[in-house]
Amino acid sequence: MRLGILGGGQLAWMLAQAAEPLGVSVAVLDPSPDCAAGRIADHVVAAYDDPAGLDEVSKGADVVTYEFENVPAAAVTRLAEHGVPVLPFPASLTITQDRAREKELMAGLGIKVAPYALIDSADDAAAALDKVGAPGILKTRRLGYDGKGQVRVKTADDLPAAIAELGGTDLIYEGLITFTRELSVVVARGTDGSLAVYPPVENEHRDGILACTLAPAPELAPDQAELAQAVGVSVAEALDHIGVLCVELFDTPDGIVANEIAPRVHNSGHWSIEGAVTSQFENHVRGVLGLPLGDPSARGVAAMVNIVGTEPELAALLAIPGASVHTYGKSPRTGRKLAHVTLVADSVDALAVPLARARVLCDAAWDA
Ligand code: AMP
Repeated sequence: MRLGILGGGQLAWMLAQAAEPLGVSVAVLDPSPDCAAGRIADHVVAAYDDPAGLDEVSKGADVVTYEFENVPAAAVTRLAEHGVPVLPFPASLTITQDRAREKELMAGLGIKVAPYALIDSADDAAAALDKVGAPGILKTRRLGYDGKGQVRVKTADDLPAAIAELGGTDLIYEGLITFTRELSVVVARGTDGSLAVYPPVENEHRDGILACTLAPAPELAPDQAELAQAVGVSVAEALDHIGVLCVELFDTPDGIVANEIAPRVHNSGHWSIEGAVTSQFENHVRGVLGLPLGDPSARGVAAMVNIVGTEPELAALLAIPGASVHTYGKSPRTGRKLAHVTLVADSVDALAVPLARARVLCDAAWDA
């Protein structure tokens, strides 16, 4: 079997790694000549909307999938015209590319989300404040990531300036949720509707970027864990999503509130390579190719620590017992995810010391 992937970054690299033992060959489309996945997959160097590039990456492919949600609509149309199945289906992209449609979908499913109002001009500010109040967060509806394209609004008076700062139109204003921590849930769904639901995890961010994931989320009440998983399942089913998706959540004293959907494998699921019976990457490959899904259960407890900006010394990381290092082969740059390290143990207590060692090294290297 052969899989085409739009995007050749570290997510595609880990998808290709998962595909290899299954005998599935991989081609990636990525304009960057030194993209991470190009090290192990056939690499088509072209823009995502380049017709010849799209034809090339889909040549001989059973399915084309993607590793990022901002795939141009024209790319998907071109592939569809050539009769190449694109999975997840385009609906997963069109809805999750737009924060407003995403929130509308989840609210319609009865999932708790932050109060929100759409802003298309400065004139919408008063009505948005009436509905949502302040403080809040103003976000661009499209193309935001890792905390980019958003501005905190402390008081009602700050909203007009924030609207101007983000371009005045196509914005969403959300009420600020007071959360105790951030969680996420990863779900894989097969072409036959079968599901593999990973345990919800706890995520800590730094500078708007994921810094550390603890899997499963420590001390999450069973009813909240079930609710988080149910949120992931209802989103996957509502989108008729095939493959992996992730829903980011806030844990609040009043229960779980959903924030956003990523229609793809997710950084908060990297722990599953070593920490789950079947990783999110393998389950995505299995899912889109119509193969049976694997077991998403955790093997003990795991922690994943991101390496951002610059890399700690490899030998120091490898000296931590049980550390698994994944290096994406990218050059250092502020705010850039370069690698991650995963630790797996039998208990939270057994994880504490190796995790602390990894945190010290990775935290010091972060944009150092
Ligand atoms: P997002 O791009 O929506 O994932 O937002 C980036 C980060 O901003 C989240 O991980 C949260 O830490 C924070 N955030 C986003 N939306 C809200 C909200 N409505 N209330 C509180 N914090 C938020």
